[in-house]
Amino acid sequence: MTGTAASARPTGLGTLIIGNCQAGVQLASSLRELGDTDPIVLVGEEPHAPYQRPPLSKAFLKGEVTADSLTFRSHDFYRQHDIELVTRERIVSVSRTAAGGVAVAESRRRFAFARLALTTGAVPRQIPFDGSELEGVSYLRTATDAAQLAQGLAGARNLVVVGGGFIGLEVAAGARAGGTTVTVLEAAPRLVGRAVSEQTSEFYLQAHRRRGIRVVLNAQVVRFLGEHDRVTGVELGDGTVVPADVVLIGVGVIPRTELAEQLGLTLDNGIVVDGSARCSDGLTVAAGDCANLPNPSITPGGVARLRLESVQNAVEQAKIAAATLLGVAAEYSTVPWFWSDQADLKLQIAGLSGGHDEIVLRGDPDSEKFSVLYYRAGQLIAADCINKPLDFIAVRGALHHGQNVPADLAGDVSLPLKKLVSAVAALAGK
Ligand SMILES: Cc1cc2nc3c(=O)[nH]c(=O)nc-3n(C[C@H](O)[C@H](O)[C@H](O)COP(=O)(O)OP(=O)(O)OC[C@H]3O[C@@H](n4cnc5c(N)ncnc54)[C@H](O)[C@@H]3O)c2cc1C
Repeated sequence: MTGTAASARPTGLGTLIIGNCQAGVQLASSLRELGDTDPIVLVGEEPHAPYQRPPLSKAFLKGEVTADSLTFRSHDFYRQHDIELVTRERIVSVSRTAAGGVAVAESRRRFAFARLALTTGAVPRQIPFDGSELEGVSYLRTATDAAQLAQGLAGARNLVVVGGGFIGLEVAAGARAGGTTVTVLEAAPRLVGRAVSEQTSEFYLQAHRRRGIRVVLNAQVVRFLGEHDRVTGVELGDGTVVPADVVLIGVGVIPRTELAEQLGLTLDNGIVVDGSARCSDGLTVAAGDCANLPNPSITPGGVARLRLESVQNAVEQAKIAAATLLGVAAEYSTVPWFWSDQADLKLQIAGLSGGHDEIVLRGDPDSEKFSVLYYRAGQLIAADCINKPLDFIAVRGALHHGQNVPADLAGDVSLPLKKLVSAVAALAGK
């Protein structure tokens, strides 16, 4: 971040942040870190104090952590930083002018503001099959969802996961490790197809099958079957029925844009923001899963905009949004990164692989420790690192500093990536 606080900074009512999870909490903290002394109200509809979502599909479901241990901050933190934390209030309408505005909750409680931030996140995409309403058919986004899923899994023999994306596979892997019979039904020809290469998809297919998970690709779910209002199976297009006591549907999320729509903000797969997290009205900011931002690593052939669903993006964008609200110049330029823990398989992704024209495999997938490096026009742009934390750190650092690892050397596992990056950077004078 650069620059100094703008002189024309509005004071008085302060900032209203709608959505009190990863991005919202960071935005409030960053406002205080940047010296904002105006009131801050952080409002959300969930009953819990703000908490981390990633463990919900991992350690929480395995019973390794409790819901209470997932909260970001103690109530003392909000008190000490003079951040008014409001839970159980769903904002249903909002209006504003350049001077400020008012948001109204379902309870009719009113929140007046001078500055407004939308950190409303996303909700699971629903699928409208017959039987979706049966008990045991679930989605996973909130701590409440996770508690219900954990309860269902406790006595379950058969789990069916609809959707072979990160969250579905994390739940599948955890349940399988606990002895449950697990079937993953993926409509596409490969797992996690939106996020990783064919090589990484194929690795996960084999690795999960080795662990005893049945994976059906190109699966066509027709409906959910049940008895006495409880799910008993999933019917596929070819007529087969997969038995199920619990079904988890994990087929992506939809950004929450209803308030942005009321404000007349430009929407396109989320709330369209510029590199400073500013919405189309030039006044409101948005950050996290709800926001569609300019691609921070745009290169020829790459997509111009994207919506990232990750902790790192929510945190980084929220910092930018806080600065923007205070008139401090800030631009999103960090290298995106992401992780997914599926049983003992730790995936770390650095960079964005879209538009790659070359792939280098570093290590043997059968060893379950390897990396897939993505190149475009000879330049390293991203990596999927499976149980290879040092590769991840090296690639993230290289991308951050605009460095490269020549593709013809990158596959040689006898050369540590970090050393390769340093050697090539020294030669290039970077
Ligand atoms: C099970 C699970 C596992 C995950 N694992 C990983 C992982 O391993 N790595 C990773 O990087 N990311 C992971 N993610 C994604 C990560 O958690 C999200 O990217 C992150 O939470 C986004 O934060 P956010 O603040 O933008 O949105 P959210 O966390 O969705 O928070 C938005 C909040 O706003 C509230 N809200 C929305 N509209 C209103 C309204 N009108 N009134 C009041 N409140 C409102 C919502 O109820 C919600 O509490 C995971 C997510 C899930 C669900």
